[in-house]
Amino acid sequence: IPSKLPEVKTTIFTRMGQLAHQYNALNLSQGFPNFDPDPKLIKLVTKAMNAGYNQYAPMAGVLELREVIAQKIDTLYGQQYQPDSEITITIGATQAIFTIITAFIGHGDEVIVFKPAYDCYEPAIEVNGGIPILIQMNNKDFKVDWADFRSRLTNRTKMVIINSPHNPSGTIFSDQDMLQLQQSLTKTNIIVISDEVYEHIIFDGNAHHSASKYPDLASRTFVCGSFGKTFHITGWKMGYCAGPAELMHEFRKVHQYNVFSADHAVQRALANYLKEPQHYLGLNQFYQEKRDLFQSGLSHSRLKIRPCMGTYFQLLDYSEITQEQDEAYAERLVREKRIACIPISSFNTNGLDNHLLRFCFAKTNDTLKSASDILCSL
Ligand code: PMP
Ligand code: GLN
Repeated sequence: IPSKLPEVKTTIFTRMGQLAHQYNALNLSQGFPNFDPDPKLIKLVTKAMNAGYNQYAPMAGVLELREVIAQKIDTLYGQQYQPDSEITITIGATQAIFTIITAFIGHGDEVIVFKPAYDCYEPAIEVNGGIPILIQMNNKDFKVDWADFRSRLTNRTKMVIINSPHNPSGTIFSDQDMLQLQQSLTKTNIIVISDEVYEHIIFDGNAHHSASKYPDLASRTFVCGSFGKTFHITGWKMGYCAGPAELMHEFRKVHQYNVFSADHAVQRALANYLKEPQHYLGLNQFYQEKRDLFQSGLSHSRLKIRPCMGTYFQLLDYSEITQEQDEAYAERLVREKRIACIPISSFNTNGLDNHLLRFCFAKTNDTLKSASDILCSL
């Protein structure tokens, strides 16, 4: 049978997770916390189940949850989204992203993706007949060259995907970056996906510049969020997207036949939990402490620490230790040192600067300590 995605392999997250399990290694590969969410949130879910919220949720999501999300975006970024027509609850950000691409991208449409990039964008574009146009970010500080970006826009460019804070580099888009993007797209019909799943994991007093803050940009953008990252519940697969009504109208045409709706009881619980901003505003500090603990544990290591301004990922440069390719080295680390990470080439770096490994620091302090001890021995 001819494959629609002949080049696609099982994801690196599955492969490294299995290898970590097989070798009983410390698993800092796939991005997920190895600690529990707030028991209060779990209680709210059981309460919702006991209260009978066990059947289909409304197609676009529980209205009360969409209202709190609208309120939160307005408070933080000053943009008003209509809960009934401009916000949809999805099965994680992954489903939001896939559904947006499916709703708008067809044969021959070009979609600009900045590399390195999270792995779900390209297959979603290709399976819909679109063409990913890959723009490599500067591999020293992972900045976008906006003049280069503008030169890659054609009359077939239908969409641009951005991600800040950025997985895997931990870089963030500045206000200037967002203004450059906004200005570059004026007078076009290009749609933007702004993947903001790490909006609450940003360090050193930096602000998150959501696409929703920029009115002209927001008018063409789907902002995607994930409760998995914010509330330590990646396994619950709950996210959302917000965007202008005419775009959301098209989104829902696909969403209603793709999944129809997301978990009802979890949405009820989140509607309550999200009402209290302290449940997410402390996350920057929480993860900054973990980043600092992990980094300080590496001070005697031969691994070079790359700047991490956001997300719960740390890139480490191993070029002083070996010139092996990153995937081979990452696999060897699992087998020989019992520690698992993600090689950066999995984010399609076109062979550029592949001596980098990504470590997830959403881990207990004990795990981070054991991990840095292993890494110092390399
Ligand atoms: N975008 C990025 C950049 C991510 O890192 C992830 C999850 N690791 C997602 C999207 C997907 O989020 P979710 O788990 O909510 O589907
Ligand atoms: N987003 C997670 C990461 O970057 C992985 C999620 C997945 O396995 N698809 O590690």
